[in-house]
Amino acid sequence: MVDIKKIRDWINKADAIIIGGGAGLSDAAGIHYNGEKFEHDFKDWIKKYGIKDLYTSSFYPFKTEEEKWAYWAKHIYFSYYERKHIDLYKNLFNLVKDKNYFVITTNTDGGFINNGFDKDKVFEIQGSYSKLQCSTPCHNKLYDNEKQVKEWLSNIDKDLKIPTSLVPKCPVCGENMSVNLRCDDTFVEDDNWYNMQSKYTDFIKNNSDKKVLLLEFGIGFNTPGIIRFPFEEMTFTHNNFRLIRFNDKYAMIPDEIKDRSIPVTDSISEVIDLVEKIK
Ligand SMILES: [Zn+2]
Repeated sequence: MVDIKKIRDWINKADAIIIGGGAGLSDAAGIHYNGEKFEHDFKDWIKKYGIKDLYTSSFYPFKTEEEKWAYWAKHIYFSYYERKHIDLYKNLFNLVKDKNYFVITTNTDGGFINNGFDKDKVFEIQGSYSKLQCSTPCHNKLYDNEKQVKEWLSNIDKDLKIPTSLVPKCPVCGENMSVNLRCDDTFVEDDNWYNMQSKYTDFIKNNSDKKVLLLEFGIGFNTPGIIRFPFEEMTFTHNNFRLIRFNDKYAMIPDEIKDRSIPVTDSISEVIDLVEKIK
């Protein structure tokens, strides 16, 4: 097991903390895109469409909007609304809540903002399950979907469709809507997205001469250019920056920054739980 006291000490001594959250963090938090719960909750969809997991099924070419939104109602509820209270994220919040912190995450499940983190300090760079957008897109506004998702869920019929009257349409151009997830170039970056992007870059700039700790969780090589490589780069260029990299498979650290980094391959939940307890 990694040196828990050392991690706590680095957190305590930091003037500012930047958290980077990736897919491995959601997985550690118990949101699994395949396995027992998926097979149970999606058994009708597995039977009808042969879907294997919630990554590939996001790209399933549903023939009708009625079928598409019945599926997405399940997917969004499973990944977001049903998971609002997550111990791992709460423990993480307790660790940093009295510090000067900022979060950047590629996760779209709202884990940070739904478990105490200030939404003005969390940059969800790849979107959120909780928002809809025009699929074209003809304009860059996002729409909260909580009420709709719950309405769709309670109206799915035996053919796995929602009623036509509940299919969402763009209020501006009348086209189909989509979930605000970055999977191609139709992804909408709204005013808030740009606002959070500049808050993130300002946070780095304003703290660049302070003791900064980068806490990186579960980021592999799907999109390493968003968090993983920039975190390495920042640690390399600032002698006052340190990096703790949590990754059960890819915790390796470049030689140039080894003396200011800790690789952690142990379970994120266990380590954070222990670090949070020792104060
Ligand atoms: Zn539109």
